[in-house]
Amino acid sequence: MEAKLKSILLFGQPGVGKGTQGAILGTIPGFCHLATGDMFRGLDRESELGREFLKYSTKGLLVPDELTCRLWRQYVQGLIDTNKYLPGSHALLLDGIPRSPVQAKTLDEHIEVLAIIHLVCEDEEELIQRMKRRAEIQNRPDDADESVIRRRFEVFHTDTSRVLEHYDPSLIHTVTATGAPGKILLNILNVVIPAMEGHFGNPLG
Ligand code: ADP
Repeated sequence: MEAKLKSILLFGQPGVGKGTQGAILGTIPGFCHLATGDMFRGLDRESELGREFLKYSTKGLLVPDELTCRLWRQYVQGLIDTNKYLPGSHALLLDGIPRSPVQAKTLDEHIEVLAIIHLVCEDEEELIQRMKRRAEIQNRPDDADESVIRRRFEVFHTDTSRVLEHYDPSLIHTVTATGAPGKILLNILNVVIPAMEGHFGNPLG
């Protein structure tokens, strides 16, 4: 990876809807959605890395920064090498990274941040209920028990929320994460489309 990858960050508490919105945006030509939660869950559970991931995620903790960033780099390189991500035509939509100040610093070498979407829901209890429902539908050991969910919120407040301090405030856009998903999407697009203007070639060629 030589030139910096032009990126949009989806940021917010666990359960706030980063994955839902990221997956929708990822279907629009010109976006490449990369969720680190999906990246980790895609690891073979029996492999060394897969076991390492489960060791932390089942406790509601972050995977160590060095391992996370190393894996992220390899993963992005794989997307580039297989033409799933074309840096000249696609905005890299990062969901779930950076999650600590060290990760933010490390990523500075590789990405240029065009905008940060900060999805906000004031009602943590609503988020916890959402996550419990999600655990029933998906196989998510980190959402299965309430004490693990609460630990994830603590980690968000102590480590992840400090990520925002790393960036120029003019890049940060707060979007309310409650209400109709279509309306949230509209509010995100209202920020993201102007931020991408002039940065990319035509994604449809
Ligand atoms: P959510 O969508 O609920 O916020 P994710 O699916 O993004 O959760 O992440 C699931 C788990 O994967 C996290 O609890 C954490 O253990 C691990 N993880 C994901 N992204 C990172 C990251 N950037 N740094 C460290 N650990 C991560």
